[in-house]
Amino acid sequence: MNSVVSFLIAAKHQSKVQFSLWLVCFLALLAASSWFMLRELNASMNNEVSRALETYTKVRSSVVETLDVMDRQLTADPCSADYATQQRRIAYLPDGMNELFFFEHGKIICTANNGLLPKPIDLGEPDIAASNPFTVTLWINRNLDALGLAGLRGSFAVRGNHGMVVPATPIPTGISKWLEFEVVLRAPDGRWWHTSGEPGLYARSLAQSNGPFGLRDGALTTIQCDLAGLHCLAARVTLGQLLVVGGAVLGLSLIVCAILAAWLSNKIYAQLARHWSFESRFLRRFQSQGVACAYQPLLDLDMDLVTGCEVLARWHDVDGTLVYPDRFIPIVEKHGLTKPFTRLVVDRAHAELLPLVPLGKRMQVNFNIFPQDLEAAALLDIFAPFLGSASRFDLTIEIVETGALELDTAQVQIERLREAGVHIYIDDFGAGYSSMHTLAGLSVDGVKLDRSFAMAPDESVMARMLDHAIDMVQDSGRRVVVEGVETAARLAALKACGKVHFAQGYYISRPLDRDAFARFIAERGPRPSARPRLVA
Ligand code: C2E
Ligand code: CA
Ligand code: CA
Repeated sequence: MNSVVSFLIAAKHQSKVQFSLWLVCFLALLAASSWFMLRELNASMNNEVSRALETYTKVRSSVVETLDVMDRQLTADPCSADYATQQRRIAYLPDGMNELFFFEHGKIICTANNGLLPKPIDLGEPDIAASNPFTVTLWINRNLDALGLAGLRGSFAVRGNHGMVVPATPIPTGISKWLEFEVVLRAPDGRWWHTSGEPGLYARSLAQSNGPFGLRDGALTTIQCDLAGLHCLAARVTLGQLLVVGGAVLGLSLIVCAILAAWLSNKIYAQLARHWSFESRFLRRFQSQGVACAYQPLLDLDMDLVTGCEVLARWHDVDGTLVYPDRFIPIVEKHGLTKPFTRLVVDRAHAELLPLVPLGKRMQVNFNIFPQDLEAAALLDIFAPFLGSASRFDLTIEIVETGALELDTAQVQIERLREAGVHIYIDDFGAGYSSMHTLAGLSVDGVKLDRSFAMAPDESVMARMLDHAIDMVQDSGRRVVVEGVETAARLAALKACGKVHFAQGYYISRPLDRDAFARFIAERGPRPSARPRLVA
């Protein structure tokens, strides 16, 4: 899960994520439109087949109607001259049935066109025998040579003594060219006889079961029978045939799917980006998880011992990456979460540091606060775990001056905080808004020179200004803290000048997690028995 999230939020993978989204949308749309088109095709194929079946239903009703007429109107003696006249009258009716005959003992005795046959035609065993005297017996697809219809085939339909030749019915001309079909005649017991179309299609269609999208073996297939279940029509169209017939439609739908997928994936990506933006991730997990602390050791230069730390906030991203304050501090401020955020840092730091300070010993802990939160009552509440007579910590709050800091008000708040035992340092002195005016106007305990002084190359203007800044702060009676100490030479120089109380910087130690800080202080901190009580 974490690796998926990491992949999704990594900036370098964004084009891959966008392309994958597009592909998923494209395939989904393609599947949906294919399903829709195949469904429509299936419906239109079924319509065509049922229209075609109407022809066969008509043939069947013509047979029954003609037999009814024969039963009513053939009143003369069978095979007499009058009988032949009556037969011919019925044969001329426009229903397609014109070879009528008289049938007795399994044989055709006389027909409307041939009169009395010199030799009765024995039809033999029927293919579909009548189940009762009111139904029709059928001999399917027989040779009609004996009736003088050389080369023709047709079926014999008989009821009682009356019968007729049912000519083979060709498939109706209106059926689509792209459909393959087969018409069969089917007996109630399931036997069937091919009558027209593609031989074998009916059998194949019966054997195959439906696959995805209603496809069978890469083709759309249907079987329909007329109401009596006598004529059945199997129809089939392969994807290949569909591509030939509907290639243009398919091309167009591919283009439409591609465009729609681009639009849809853009929308989803924007939604995802909003959901997975750093800001959303940070805010979603703000209260519950993510906040972590790093501890950067503070070196007491008089004792050459690490006597405390500055607590620096960190944040664990959803994929476990450690995020630095420059990314989340602006978000905290933008959403007015400064106080809850400081509280989270304070509580976590207290839980992690307390076990490191043995009973009766003390540790200096510096926190950063947001300048707009300089309000004694709220801060005393937030920092309560570090205060009180039982506390093992000497608490320092570092404040950065901003344009918004109103000196008189700030001074009142600082006084209240100091009365409650909190030390106050001005942070980043020498950068941004901090000025001599601030130093003179606020009764702070110490000043942290901006790290750009100590980090400046030797002999640079900033490096030379470091000494002046140290002098100036010392002259104001405040403690001097120099941060950004990155070299042994710089540390040695600071020690030698004898005016700096604390040093902090990568040369001494980078900010550490709790365990590393515990090891560090065990090595570089005061011996447990000799650890002095720190007084600002
Ligand atoms: P800051 O208060 O000036 O903190 C010191 C920053 O300098 C830290 O960066 C620290 O890692 C870095 N630093 C320390 N020694 C050296 C060094 O020798 N060389 C260099 N190049 N850098 C050094 P970080 O942790 O990224 O913090 C940046 C800023 O974020 C802090 O500046 C502070 O203004 C703010 N911040 C950090 N934690 C908190 C917090 O809990 N609350 C508030 N309000 N602000 C915080
Ligand atoms: Ca600071
Ligand atoms: Ca600073």
